[in-house]
Amino acid sequence: MRDAWVITIDGPAGVGKSTVARMLSERLGAVFLDTGAMYRTVTAAAMDKGVDLEDVEALLSLIDSTAFRFEHDGPVLRTRADGKDYTQRIREPEVTENVRHVACQGPLRGRLVRMQQDFANRFSKVVTEGRDQGTVVFPDAKWKFFLEADPEERARRRQKDFAAAGKAVALEELKKHILSRDASDINRSVGPLAAAADAIHIDTTRVDAEGVVEIMIRRIEETKNGGH
Ligand code: C5P
Repeated sequence: MRDAWVITIDGPAGVGKSTVARMLSERLGAVFLDTGAMYRTVTAAAMDKGVDLEDVEALLSLIDSTAFRFEHDGPVLRTRADGKDYTQRIREPEVTENVRHVACQGPLRGRLVRMQQDFANRFSKVVTEGRDQGTVVFPDAKWKFFLEADPEERARRRQKDFAAAGKAVALEELKKHILSRDASDINRSVGPLAAAADAIHIDTTRVDAEGVVEIMIRRIEETKNGGH
């Protein structure tokens, strides 16, 4: 197992995990693994094939009969299902809203966990981000981080992202969505959003992405030659 070279970053939606994971992987010459993109791709492929998202058996047979490809492509995880590129499509709001159906089912998570471990095994250094990376997928990772931030601030960040894409969305609406995703991520019985006991917690409410990466690098340097 190459767990020694995996760095995990977990935390709720809108906390800045992807930005930070991308920047940290660049700094360390590591490959970035966006596990949310994997859940999103399975969800979008199921939607496109008209699979009932409440039917676990149908979703399992979709996973088993579809060729999913997850490829490292610089700062993005390029995702494909049966040759079709899903990298853009998976960011659409209806996919975001539907991911919870895939994310809450144990057997489906089992398949995705295996895909994540297989992906990591292909590289010598990986920075991975998600909800269960430090707890379930890479329990022996050398460094584990758990990011947190006030929901208000997370909603503001999302609002900025939408504004940059030319869309005006009310703050209250975004906050409602964020809190609802938190609840379904925290309360599911399998692979819930949780910090590993040995994770380093970082509150990003008042720290920008560069600042968070600096904190991480410092912690990594401090513990490089010994334990935590
Ligand atoms: O991180 P992102 O917002 O792209 O993740 C989309 C959804 O996928 C999350 O809301 C969560 O329900 C699910 N997910 C998960 N486990 C992961 C990564 C994402 O359940 N490791």
